[in-house]
Amino acid sequence: MYRDNTKVVHIGDRVIGGGNPILIQSMTNTRTEDVKATVEQIHRLEAAGCDIIRCTVPTLEAAKAVAEIKKQISIPLVADIHFDYKMAIAAMENGADKIRINPGNIGSKDRIAAVVSCAKERNIPIRVGVNSGSLEKELVEKYHGVTAKGLVESALDKIGIIEDLGYDNMVVSIKSSNVPLCVEAHDLLAKECKYPLHVGITEAGTVYGGNIKSAMGLGIILNKGIGDTIRVSLSGDPVEEIKSAKYILRFLGIRKGGIEVVSCPTCGRTRIDLIGLANQVETMVQSYPLDIKVAVMGCAVNGPGEAKEADIGIAGGDGEGLLIKKGEIIKKVKEDQLLTVLKEELDNWNK
Ligand code: SF4
Repeated sequence: MYRDNTKVVHIGDRVIGGGNPILIQSMTNTRTEDVKATVEQIHRLEAAGCDIIRCTVPTLEAAKAVAEIKKQISIPLVADIHFDYKMAIAAMENGADKIRINPGNIGSKDRIAAVVSCAKERNIPIRVGVNSGSLEKELVEKYHGVTAKGLVESALDKIGIIEDLGYDNMVVSIKSSNVPLCVEAHDLLAKECKYPLHVGITEAGTVYGGNIKSAMGLGIILNKGIGDTIRVSLSGDPVEEIKSAKYILRFLGIRKGGIEVVSCPTCGRTRIDLIGLANQVETMVQSYPLDIKVAVMGCAVNGPGEAKEADIGIAGGDGEGLLIKKGEIIKKVKEDQLLTVLKEELDNWNK
């Protein structure tokens, strides 16, 4: 697998690359200068399972805020820099654990050299990001449009610039909002690049569409063994990004842990509020550290059979339902007690 052979990179106290577990990232959408709001959001993201957080650093005030924010959080912080190399340096001086730059918009070689020199002194990794929306004009012309080959050439150029400055503590990202293009670019890049890849479908969209797009893109790319850290990017609460990223890793069998809920699509046989029940169960199980599968089925006809694959399940009836374990009916329960009975079972799972 590609990800087993990428370079190991330390981001604060976390490690990616070289076959280490894939880490989940998100980005704050508060003003970084607003320390209180940013810390509050990072705490919510940490609680949801965020491994690494990125904050934009567009001003010196934001760079200084990085130092304050870092004191109050326990996950590594990545400073996202565009255009102004001084912000990259200020962010590192204020304790950023990694910086994300696009060398293409940082300016002259001297400025890139100043950023790399500061990173080298502190051994801070640099994420070199290439985005299909900002692919260089020459590469768009050379490849007759925005293509996977153009994106990869751009990424390799940028890697080369940093390597020529004597630094190889890097993570690389190559993003597009076009799923097939993004997949093709990762296929090509993974063969050429020894650095860990940060994978995401950029500007994926709203919580609904963006989740589907991200699941498709990340699903295909990760399943090929490519990708060392991921971000699902959604126009929504960043906590949704973490939930989705966890689901993607879990459903691909990459990350274990957490309860997986399977539920039936409902049909003419359904006599209970199965959709409401499934949603309640999904919310309820978030807090359990169990690695099991829970089935929520609409009826007793197919329910037990369909729930066989699950460790525990409930199947609706008419005013009542069944508690099922490994496909065996354990007991009948009144409909309004189904959730409570399931909760009791989960509370006592390892007792
Ligand atoms: S489990 Fe029952 S209610 Fe749900 S889809 Fe199957 S047959 Fe219909």
